[in-house]
Amino acid sequence: MPQKAVFLDRDKTIILPHGDNYIYRIGDFYIPDSYNTALKELYDNGFKLYVVTNQGRVAKGYMSEEDVTDLHEHLNEIYNSHGFEVEEFAYCPHNPMGHVDPYNVVCPCRKPKQGMFTYLIEKYDIDIDKSWMVGDTERDIVAGNLCGLKTILLRTGYHIGSEKADYVEDDLAAAAVRILKTKK
Ligand SMILES: [Zn+2]
Repeated sequence: MPQKAVFLDRDKTIILPHGDNYIYRIGDFYIPDSYNTALKELYDNGFKLYVVTNQGRVAKGYMSEEDVTDLHEHLNEIYNSHGFEVEEFAYCPHNPMGHVDPYNVVCPCRKPKQGMFTYLIEKYDIDIDKSWMVGDTERDIVAGNLCGLKTILLRTGYHIGSEKADYVEDDLAAAAVRILKTKK
């Protein structure tokens, strides 16, 4: 049976940086308690959770793919301790502006392209009509729209592209409330 899903951007969506810094590794982020509660609610209501994140700084040499996957394993350890999990973390390590081979290429997965989404939708038989994309940037919303998902832009980012989103909410906790009260 097709699954309903919530696709989640990572940085500034499910985890927050300290100050204005970027998130490269474990230790560079924190999670408000309300975010864990929100994701658990979605999970308990039958939504599979997927992370879709651009990590083009791999192509720029700031971190390795292993740093990225280590962080994702760490996140699922935290989530497991709260009684839920992210089904899969999809990430794009590419950036054509980078200098690290083989990542400095134009790829089909870097948001706002749909590559990570189409991969997950096919692999997990996801019911697009009942599924959502939540993120803090315009490219999250554009990618979600291209896939036919309902979209929520979070005010945790720069609030660009709000006119393209179905909803705008303060943060992940508010987004979860919106998803759970919106019948699709
Ligand atoms: Zn890519």
